[in-house]
Amino acid sequence: MIYKGSCHCGKVAYEVEGTIDGAMACNCSMCQRKGSLLWFVPRDRMRLTTPEANASTYQFNKHHIKHRFCATCGIHPYGEGTDPKGNAMAAINIRCLEDIDLDSVPVKHFNGRAL
Ligand SMILES: [Zn+2]
Repeated sequence: MIYKGSCHCGKVAYEVEGTIDGAMACNCSMCQRKGSLLWFVPRDRMRLTTPEANASTYQFNKHHIKHRFCATCGIHPYGEGTDPKGNAMAAINIRCLEDIDLDSVPVKHFNGRAL
């Protein structure tokens, strides 16, 4: 399945391929404020359909994760980082995907570092 995701104004958009088997509600100081529901996929399964420069980057703490957001509308559609083995990963905010039934996705709660 290929999902399309974007920020609110459309300056940051992407396609991501895979099966959503669950999402994570991270309680770090950033995600708690954003309310993101994250689905982790290998970074190469996600393809930006807008120029990468359209996505601003916010980093904090140990700078493990690049929180990507749209500087125009303020929405955070995805993040980037590496898993414990060093593989490039994308954290898709499934609240930004089209045609998805959020209530059907099992949500896990997480304490600590997401990636
Ligand atoms: Zn936007």
